[in-house]
Amino acid sequence: MEDTRTVNVPLLDLVAQYRAIKDEVLPALQAVIESQQFVMGPPVGQLEAAVAGLSHAAHGIACASGTDALLLPLRALQLEPGDEVITSPFTFFATAGAIHNAGGVPVFAEIDPDTFNVAPAAVEAVVTPRTRALVPVHLYGQMAELERLTATAGRHGLRIVEDAAQAIGARRRIGGAWRMAGELGWVTGFSFFPSKNLGAWGDGGMMVTSDGAVAERLRKLRLHGGAKQYHHDEVGTNSRLDSLQAAVLLAKLPHLASWSDQRRRHAGYYTKALADVSAVRTPVVDACNEHVFHQYTLRVERRDELQAHLKSKRIGSAVYYPVPLHLQQCFSHLGYRRGQFPEAERAAAEVISLPVYPELTRDQLDYVVDAIRGFYG
Ligand SMILES: *Cc1c(COP(=O)(O)O)cnc(C)c1O
Repeated sequence: MEDTRTVNVPLLDLVAQYRAIKDEVLPALQAVIESQQFVMGPPVGQLEAAVAGLSHAAHGIACASGTDALLLPLRALQLEPGDEVITSPFTFFATAGAIHNAGGVPVFAEIDPDTFNVAPAAVEAVVTPRTRALVPVHLYGQMAELERLTATAGRHGLRIVEDAAQAIGARRRIGGAWRMAGELGWVTGFSFFPSKNLGAWGDGGMMVTSDGAVAERLRKLRLHGGAKQYHHDEVGTNSRLDSLQAAVLLAKLPHLASWSDQRRRHAGYYTKALADVSAVRTPVVDACNEHVFHQYTLRVERRDELQAHLKSKRIGSAVYYPVPLHLQQCFSHLGYRRGQFPEAERAAAEVISLPVYPELTRDQLDYVVDAIRGFYG
């Protein structure tokens, strides 16, 4: 029997999170305000050290957004016209936009239909003498097959820039050891956009790396290319994380592990409750991965109708992403055609993400499950 109550279940409820942590965050903000050190104040360095530590990387370099956290390392590669960078066609636009804005040619490789992440064999197949780097995306919070991608990169002399915007704290068992998102890439970009698993109260991003030389380079690139004020070694940009955002993030960081646990718990609940609904395919977690469920994403039949049904029941949902990047207007000059990446195109037509934020209640989870079961009869 379908539930006839109405329970409001937004896709994300940042107000619930705010209520739970405001007594920790507001004093940290107050301290920054009292100091009036809004740019590059002490919380920025503390956050850089903390996120680098979490990611098993030697250096953290904060910047203005997750987009810049991809753009700056790609700029550090000093791409020449025609240089290629391989990535997934099924990701947020910023991944390929950053490649383009760094002067590179985005080259897409088909995804794995189980994890939605770029398929290593497909990456290997599109490497050319012009390839300079790979940008794997840990989509929805589950890591790509980095052990195979690092092998490809090693064989061809390529850099790996991990797009971990959705995967802070995710890890993967490789050769018997847990490796964090951010541990194996040359440089990794994280986003602190408010809806991400560790969200600021505005825009923000972080690069991590264990390459000391590139860390120094990135520190310059975010400050107009000069480590010493008014002395510029190269042309960079202004891309800093402000102290207020760093203070928010530092106050939130101790909660991240338990929030990720809650997300995994909610995901497990949905997956069990929907296991026998044949029109629905629940997320596949690679046995080597510990997923952080930035998104809980189903493949479903009659996706758009289901989404309208959920909306009518005041349940938030979203389609990440409805148009694969090889079919975006702005990349038409790259010459890709419909049908070229059938798995990415099928994913774009079938996916729907459900609310999976940590503060969801059992009642809300049950209400979402009932609505989906009711829709498919
Ligand atoms: C959010 C996101 C970005 C960009 O981060 P911003 O902080 O919004 O600039 C890049 N890649 C992926 C996969 C993302 O989800």
